[in-house]
Amino acid sequence: MSRQKKFILEESELPREWYNIQAEMPNKPMMPIHPATRQPLSWEDLSHIFPTECAKQELDQEHAWIPIPEEVQEKYRYYRSTPLVRAYALEEALGTPAHIYFKNESVNPLGSHKINSALPQCYYAKQEGTTNVTTETGAGQWGAALSYAASVYGLEAAVYQVKISMQQKPYRSSIMRTFGATVEGSPSMSTRAGKDIITRDPRHSGSLGTAISEAIELATTTPNCKYTLGSVLNHVSLHQTIIGLEAEKQMEKAGEYPDTVIACFGGGSNFGGLAFPFMRHNFTGEKHTEFIAAEPESCPKLTRGKFEYDFGDEAGYTPLLPMFTLGHDFKPANIHAGGLRYHGAGVIVSQLIKDGLMRGVDIPQLETFQAGMLFARTEGIIPAPESCHAIAATIREAEKCRQTGEQKVILFNLSGHGLIDMTAYDQYLNGDLQNYSISDEEIEKNIENLPKVL
Ligand SMILES: *Cc1c(COP(=O)(O)O)cnc(C)c1O
Repeated sequence: MSRQKKFILEESELPREWYNIQAEMPNKPMMPIHPATRQPLSWEDLSHIFPTECAKQELDQEHAWIPIPEEVQEKYRYYRSTPLVRAYALEEALGTPAHIYFKNESVNPLGSHKINSALPQCYYAKQEGTTNVTTETGAGQWGAALSYAASVYGLEAAVYQVKISMQQKPYRSSIMRTFGATVEGSPSMSTRAGKDIITRDPRHSGSLGTAISEAIELATTTPNCKYTLGSVLNHVSLHQTIIGLEAEKQMEKAGEYPDTVIACFGGGSNFGGLAFPFMRHNFTGEKHTEFIAAEPESCPKLTRGKFEYDFGDEAGYTPLLPMFTLGHDFKPANIHAGGLRYHGAGVIVSQLIKDGLMRGVDIPQLETFQAGMLFARTEGIIPAPESCHAIAATIREAEKCRQTGEQKVILFNLSGHGLIDMTAYDQYLNGDLQNYSISDEEIEKNIENLPKVL
């Protein structure tokens, strides 16, 4: 009997709207707060930094469905739909009765889900007459996607890449430069924020927090320049819901519905992208899917962070966001999952966790690479170190099923491939990688310094 392995959609079946979960959440996220006035932020405030349409989407708690502009749909069709794949070989290797599916966001030429939001952000920027965009990037996937999207819509892109990631993954800066972007390691000496950070700590290896500070400073000091962000914010997760909306139709083709939905978690965009379209059926009581966000043990904001208003960046330029955080000056260990080295969580996910509608799980680095190796050897795809967290969490759930005999349907997001991350795999294979855990005292100490708003 031939078993169907892959489920894809016809062009005519591709979603034409994104799903805005904010409109349907039982408790809406609290408003971001202006760092200086301590007043709730308006979209006008946000539009000084972000494209106006993105600023409006960020605070939209009213419209559940947002039309995807035709010009963005057209670019989506270059690589969408992405396949939904049944991981038969992984199931067999685990000896689990669970059915494991993954949504393969690694198949576009940039290699990760990030392009789903890079395209609309650059499109909206171009629409309002912007000529330049700037951003931060950790491992480089967002920078690569943004650089491509900027070239698609004829914008100049300047990218601050976290210094440690630049060294770990040199080819990602080559990719960005191939698309015409300029790339600078963060912290750099080209911004005040960067200089301040280097003065305090000359050997600072950079973090998403430092790179965000520098990119925002460039955007606010350059005429006709807008800032774009690849994670954390609501409008980014909104754009990413294309993943879950497709997956929902594809699961239907497979004749199943997920009992468990899993994604790795940096700031929440690939998690929200896959999970939110399914979660809406939990809100109505129609379904009872479990949602799990997998984060690194060394950066455990969901499982061990505190719900507080905090800055999104190291220097404190961003609005204050109500979120689970380890403190904006938290310095994550130099793990290879660069995209997960972020101190906070998006405000939607933070509210959902507070309300018990999903949960986080934190996973040690070595377990994530073990999971990635098994996945590579069974399914033939080398996953990004970030995605390995989702795979490890999936394996934990599948093994529970092996013990209980439960035939759960598990769906996880393969957020990207790891072909530019082979230094990390080399180190794993050579036995040179280690786990990093942090103590409660370290977490407490870092959170003590948060601005007290709540
Ligand atoms: C950026 C990135 C992540 C983490 O970001 P989220 O916004 O949490 O999705 C995960 N996986 C890959 C491949 C990434 O590039």
